[in-house]
Amino acid sequence: MKIRVLPDNLANQIAAGEVVERPASVVKELVENSIDARATRVEIDIELGGRRLMRVSDDGSGMVREDAILAFERHATSKISTLEDLAAIGTLGFRGEALASIASVAKVELTTRMADSDAATRVLVEGGRLVDVKDAGRAPGTTIAVRDLFYNTPARRKFMRSEPTENYHLTGIVTHYALAHPEIAFTLTSNGREVLRVSPAKDLRERAFQIFGPGLLDSLLPVSGGRDFIAKVTGFISAPRERRTTRDAQYFFVNQRFVKDKTIAGGLLEGYRSVLPHGVYPVAFLFIDVPLEEIDVNVHPAKTEVRFRRTEAVKDAIAEAIRNALAEGGIAVRAEEREQERQIAATAGSEMSQPPVQQPMSFHVSDDAAKVADVSALRRPAETFAPASSDDRGPSPFEQFDDASNFASDFEQRANERADDSNEVSSIESFQNLIQTTIDLPPVNSAERYVRSAEVTDVSSSKIRPIAQLHDSFIIAVDDEGMLLIDQHVAHERILFDKFRKSETEREIESQNLLLPETIDLTPAQSQAFELIEDDLASLGFGVMHLSGRTIAIKSIPTDLPPGEARNLFAEILDHIELDKRGGAKQTLRDDIAASLACKAAVKINMKLTPEKMQWLIDRLLVTSSPTTCPHGRPVILRLTMKDIERGFHRT
Ligand code: ADP
Ligand code: MG
Repeated sequence: MKIRVLPDNLANQIAAGEVVERPASVVKELVENSIDARATRVEIDIELGGRRLMRVSDDGSGMVREDAILAFERHATSKISTLEDLAAIGTLGFRGEALASIASVAKVELTTRMADSDAATRVLVEGGRLVDVKDAGRAPGTTIAVRDLFYNTPARRKFMRSEPTENYHLTGIVTHYALAHPEIAFTLTSNGREVLRVSPAKDLRERAFQIFGPGLLDSLLPVSGGRDFIAKVTGFISAPRERRTTRDAQYFFVNQRFVKDKTIAGGLLEGYRSVLPHGVYPVAFLFIDVPLEEIDVNVHPAKTEVRFRRTEAVKDAIAEAIRNALAEGGIAVRAEEREQERQIAATAGSEMSQPPVQQPMSFHVSDDAAKVADVSALRRPAETFAPASSDDRGPSPFEQFDDASNFASDFEQRANERADDSNEVSSIESFQNLIQTTIDLPPVNSAERYVRSAEVTDVSSSKIRPIAQLHDSFIIAVDDEGMLLIDQHVAHERILFDKFRKSETEREIESQNLLLPETIDLTPAQSQAFELIEDDLASLGFGVMHLSGRTIAIKSIPTDLPPGEARNLFAEILDHIELDKRGGAKQTLRDDIAASLACKAAVKINMKLTPEKMQWLIDRLLVTSSPTTCPHGRPVILRLTMKDIERGFHRT
């Protein structure tokens, strides 16, 4: 056998095996090139999951004609020229093989113009062969269209997965880079439908809001830490209540480069060790900045892997930054508080000769007003640039509270007005001042015998105003009759249950598309349960697709469910059905699903609510079929009438 030097094109095709794993890798390389070219706007159009077309347009530097041709040569790059450069790579690309590899397995059309050129150049390369070069018209910048991927390598084409799967990866890549570069505007369309559109944002937080909406934003904790000369760590992580069963919502960047990295994932999990159970993953956008000489990015042709010089030190730095962020977010502190309360309760029980007192009362007034201001400030720019699919997905995922999405700013305004007018006694502000700190009260007479669950006739017509939240779980409200306590969870449950029941009968389904479809591998049992209730789920607003075997993808969910909960909810419903509902009649089955959905989607106990969320809950509750009882028959509202109060104080 004789050794031969492979022809260039064959070498490119072999390299393409590593660079172009799937359509998403093509888009990754093209988007990276646009970013390297200092684009401020990047548009990505996809057809048939990238199989037919992937087109990336930018308003970056553009290229002169010679470079446009040269760009397709193997090892043709403008980004490094010496070995020293390789030791400190500041651009995303540097190997000069992406375009050559891509063009060797597809039909590529490159149109590019530099700002100071009169005309643009169009270069056509098919299967690695230069087919045509000519003048064209175009604004400064570059468009690269990649058609018929793997058309000349049938073996590779067979490995492409279904359109939704490829779209899933494509969306993931674009989301990654959109997060890494808030300053750049991104648009992604798939078969002509807009999937993502974000305008330039001022920072990561605003960009995260544009992409994921206010729900996630509420639970994001800023990270800012790390160690000098090893790794600086910034970004956001989710509070432990936001849980995922996969790592899909973890976005890591090293020196702005999208990476998949075990060291970072390890550091992240280490930081969460005591607050998250096993098998549950946080949401994270982590930007690791490492001195260029501390890292080797030239590990793999796709450049999604990096090698740290001091792996353990980097991991430790990350874990420490995460722990600090959680502590600052009050996560660790809250655990301490609980411990304190427990001890106080214990001592109170054993030491006192008097009958055991109820635990010291502690009021926490919602301090979310500040957050409201924050979010509404962000909401303005996003309004115009919310993912365009919002059109066809109906109301926003947070319709449950956004219904009056203006009221966030309304409220903010009102709160400010009130702050000015310090005479107004009932204002939340002054109330907050009053009980800002925890007050320990001496034993008081129990009001238990006066408090009773409210009758429907009692509440429906009265005007109920929320005053504060008790233990982040119950709304304290007043009306003309006296005082009310509302269980926030069951109240919301009642609202949602009615809504789900109604949409079943009226067939007016509101569902929202998930930005990233959630793929789930069902257990055999879940899979059977799924078959049983597939239609019901569809009529409730779940859009589910069979991928293969027992793998399904949730594409859309009822508008009321927080998207982040989609996966858990789905599994829980299936497990629930599987356990005890199989033999049940169709209608009870449906009721059960509605009740289960309502329960899972409803705000939880121990969750802070903003004053306007409380008001929203109350207003909505009053127009439900049964405002005073939850779908499981528990009371929703307890009442203490003026008469009872006066009786309690011996005033009558
Ligand atoms: P690399 O990015 O590793 O340098 P590529 O094969 O991805 O290699 O690109 C080759 C060269 O083509 C780049 O170095 C750059 O000079 C040029 N190029 C590619 N895409 C663009 C673009 N969108 N705008 C301007 N120049 C580009
Ligand atoms: Mg490149």
